[in-house]
Amino acid sequence: MRIILLGPPGAGKGTQARILTEEYGIVHIAAGDLFRENIKNKTALGQQVEAILKAGTLVPDEITIKMIAARLDQPDCKNGFILDGFPRTVAQAEALEEMLKNKGIALDAAVQMAVDDEALVERVSGRFTCAVCGEGYHDTFKKPHAPDTCDKCGAQGKFTRRADDNAETVRTRLETYHSQTKPILPFYEERGLLKTVDGMAPMKDVTAAILALFGAKKASSQGVQAKKNG
Ligand code: AMP
Repeated sequence: MRIILLGPPGAGKGTQARILTEEYGIVHIAAGDLFRENIKNKTALGQQVEAILKAGTLVPDEITIKMIAARLDQPDCKNGFILDGFPRTVAQAEALEEMLKNKGIALDAAVQMAVDDEALVERVSGRFTCAVCGEGYHDTFKKPHAPDTCDKCGAQGKFTRRADDNAETVRTRLETYHSQTKPILPFYEERGLLKTVDGMAPMKDVTAAILALFGAKKASSQGVQAKKNG
């Protein structure tokens, strides 16, 4: 299973990708996470991109494509992957097509999570994450049951907020999405790969809609099998 998740910041790509990863037993590759990891570890790449992420604009294609190509070469991608936040430009979509062609593999689908711009600023500005297990929360929509404690892993005082999840940067990221990323929708439509789900629906319904695209039960048992074999 090889899937791309498309949608503006706050569409819920990361949340759905984590659920699908468990469902199908395939890796979640988030371009933004890879950049943030490099920034945290103060690598040369991290230093190169830190200011760009802070501003909410896009990292140059050449750098991004190189990073993703290296990630897709890792053996854990053999069973499949979910790409979240890549591609974000037509040049990246073309490069990905070429990369996969060279590996003799193809995408199953590019899933667009359609959302309302108005809702996004509120959604993104209020979100925070458990630094230990990655579980996502929100000031309004999904508070942890006990204050400052992760529902999933029980870690205390480990919540973090992204530096670029403030209202001003979110607006820049939204503009960037409309001007640079939206043009890739026709790219996937022409190839018969574009599927659209309603990203404004409750989280569980969005998951159900995505699973329905791929036949959840069959894929689920394959995922379990893959995990057992792996
Ligand atoms: P995300 O975590 O997907 O919201 O990405 C955070 C930031 O990382 C973006 O605002 C960009 O600055 C950068 N970024 C992530 N993915 C890409 C990409 N495919 N191309 C260029 N920049 C990216």
